[in-house]
Amino acid sequence: MAVTPGFARQAQYRTAFRVLGVVLAIAGLAVFVWGIKSFMGATDMPSSLSVVAFLGGFLVFGIGLMCLQIGFVGAAARYGAGETMPVVKDSLDYLKSGPFCSKCGERNDADAKFCDSCGATLG
Ligand SMILES: [Zn+2]
Repeated sequence: MAVTPGFARQAQYRTAFRVLGVVLAIAGLAVFVWGIKSFMGATDMPSSLSVVAFLGGFLVFGIGLMCLQIGFVGAAARYGAGETMPVVKDSLDYLKSGPFCSKCGERNDADAKFCDSCGATLG
């Protein structure tokens, strides 16, 4: 898994994965349903387009779910790490020297543009 807890911009990637996942899942499901209807409605041989929509829609839907899983598993792993490894977390915090978030007080990496915790823009 490419997601490593505790690093700056991870929250942005998570958000991107969640948005991407929702979009792909909805789009994939819509195409998939259309493919099934087209497939079932065919009187003779189903058109190749409906087969492509059926399989492609399912595939896109699956990829969307995978993105959602990555987005939320990352959050769960980060939460778990924060709960079970406070010493490691504190050590990482000491190594960081970046700005504190003005909204939630989270310390972020020096080159971070957005808060790792709440996503606010860092001044
Ligand atoms: Zn913040």
